[in-house]
Amino acid sequence: MDIRLQCGGVVLMAVLLYFYIRQKRISLDTEKAFFRAFLVTLVCIILDIFSILALDFRDRLPQMAVRFICKSYLVTLMGVAFCGLLYVCVDIYKDKDYKKSVRKYKLAAVAGMILIYALPMEYQFAEDKTTIIYTYGGSVYITYVFAVGFLVINFLLMRKEKTRINPARREAVRLWMVIWIGASLTQLFYSSLLIVGYMSAIGVAILYLKLENPETNLDRQSGMFNHSALIQYGRQLFGRKTAFSVLTLVLKEPLHKSMRADQTGTAGMEMLEFLVNVPDAFIFKEAENEILFVFEDVEKAKEQTQRILQRFQSGWGKDGQFGVKHFWIYMADAGIVNNVDDMLDLMQGISQDSAGLTKNNLILADKAMAEEMYRMRETERLLADAIEKDRVEVFYQPIFSTRENRFTSAEALVRIRDENGKIVPPGVFIGVAEQNGAIVKLGAMIFEKVCRMIRETDIRQYGLHYLEINLSVVQCASEHLYEDYMRIMEKYGISADQINLEITESASLDAKAMLLRNMERLMAHGVRFSLDDFGTGQANLNYIMDMPVDIVKFDRDMTMAYFENQKAKYIMDSAIHMIHGMGLEIVSEGIETEEQYQTMKELGISYIQGYYFSKPLPQEEFWKFIEERNLKTDSRNG
Ligand code: C2E
Ligand code: MG
Ligand code: MG
Repeated sequence: MDIRLQCGGVVLMAVLLYFYIRQKRISLDTEKAFFRAFLVTLVCIILDIFSILALDFRDRLPQMAVRFICKSYLVTLMGVAFCGLLYVCVDIYKDKDYKKSVRKYKLAAVAGMILIYALPMEYQFAEDKTTIIYTYGGSVYITYVFAVGFLVINFLLMRKEKTRINPARREAVRLWMVIWIGASLTQLFYSSLLIVGYMSAIGVAILYLKLENPETNLDRQSGMFNHSALIQYGRQLFGRKTAFSVLTLVLKEPLHKSMRADQTGTAGMEMLEFLVNVPDAFIFKEAENEILFVFEDVEKAKEQTQRILQRFQSGWGKDGQFGVKHFWIYMADAGIVNNVDDMLDLMQGISQDSAGLTKNNLILADKAMAEEMYRMRETERLLADAIEKDRVEVFYQPIFSTRENRFTSAEALVRIRDENGKIVPPGVFIGVAEQNGAIVKLGAMIFEKVCRMIRETDIRQYGLHYLEINLSVVQCASEHLYEDYMRIMEKYGISADQINLEITESASLDAKAMLLRNMERLMAHGVRFSLDDFGTGQANLNYIMDMPVDIVKFDRDMTMAYFENQKAKYIMDSAIHMIHGMGLEIVSEGIETEEQYQTMKELGISYIQGYYFSKPLPQEEFWKFIEERNLKTDSRNG
């Protein structure tokens, strides 16, 4: 019989093996499963050759040996199908359920093997009655039964668990199966065409080239592992639920620049050399100047981190031109997050928050930071959901005028309801909304709700002159604020003097310039402004001078300090004096007791807001409150 095809297969696989073994690899589970399938296929083809030779030279060999070789070949043939199934299972079940899930397949494979060795095998002779063209009998048939069985299970499993298997892998495995089945059928009908072995080699080559070429996990330029490798490896590590450590850094120069010896000498290359040779770690290039080390051994991670930090203290090249840009982030136990995507998110979040704060320090990513990230995410989800399903509500807190001796305005304060109908206060979500930009939409929604209420209820009839609505610094710095708010006021036919917008101090000059532009344009239509949070350090006297506001709102902290601290008293006295001197009015917030109320009144404060009168109330309750206090009894308060 002809063994040339099989020999070709062996050569092909030997070449692949050579490249495979030489490549730098991470020990991915799928990679191990592939390598197992690879080796079994190789052994299968070699045994194919041996069995053909054994049949040809059967006269000179003990019959037992001939049959043993032929049956061993059949066992490996079934083994190839079995390994193909395990390869897919590794991807589907990851680490946790894998062992349990494949146990039944393993038992089946053992049973198949026993049957193949136990059942009889016959030779089919050619017409010359001496040459054997193929073998048949129970042993051969059972091989087909098991091999086809494994292939069918594999096929069904890939269909059922479509979402859990990497699509590229599914594609490649399917192709491999088609080739294999095609070859087997061909061989079944044209028994003298012994192509199964060779086609197995082709199938494995396809898997190798499409998926398992370790080179696809490498960054060609630096020789480090790439992002895709990090994701695969990370998934595996998180699946295992064992502790591992991660260290990441941002380089001053992008890697490709470090490698340009003509401009910078060899310093950059030396740094790269140091990085890729850090022991006990897998090294990933996350971005052009971002490197990430993964240590499976937590103790060694500590040691190596110290060593790396020490070496980087002096950097490389002139004045340490090659080194770390700002800080390091070290995660001693990556178990503080749930998966590799969260791990990268957390590190990115820390980088963004800390950029420019520290220099070459080590930031320890701890559980509290991870919890904060998850809390933020949960809040983002809650907020997005509330905006989408309109579970945003506006409460109103009455503001009392000491001069008119009744309530003359109110502050609109937002709340959202969660899925269970529970009220979530703004302290929880305003910061998050400002960070992710949702505040622009949320702010417009709140403004619209207030405008709708003003249209529905003539606030002047109730003795209210205007309503105060908070603006976030993010909204103030948006160039759309003016158009958006004008559009909403026009939609509801609101006259602008019923609106008073509360602003706070903007951090940047640009934001301040935009705020001023927005203010001027809105003021031209009659909108007025208050400066919120005075006395929290967020607003100071300089700011009042720059900002065209009518009202200054004293924060609760400031009022509290007045009663506790002699110095604060002097500051508040002179602040009141100066603000009144500028012709502005004052609202004192957070007034809770009779004593506080009387004192503020004596200090000449025009407006009082606080629990002493009322907490922020839902719309209906608010109107009931105002009706009761302003319309029914005109002078009960005061
Ligand atoms: P703020 O604008 O300074 O609002 C005053 C806060 O003090 C409100 O808290 C109010 O309920 C609370 N307060 C009033 N009187 C008392 C009192 O006597 N004692 C105590 N302990 N607290 C009192 P709230 O509603 O939780 O709002 C907190 C902050 O959230 C607001 O501070 C404001 O900065 C922000 N916020 C609320 N609504 C909005 C909104 O619609 N848009 C924007 N951008 N921010 C808002
Ligand atoms: Mg306010
Ligand atoms: Mg305030």
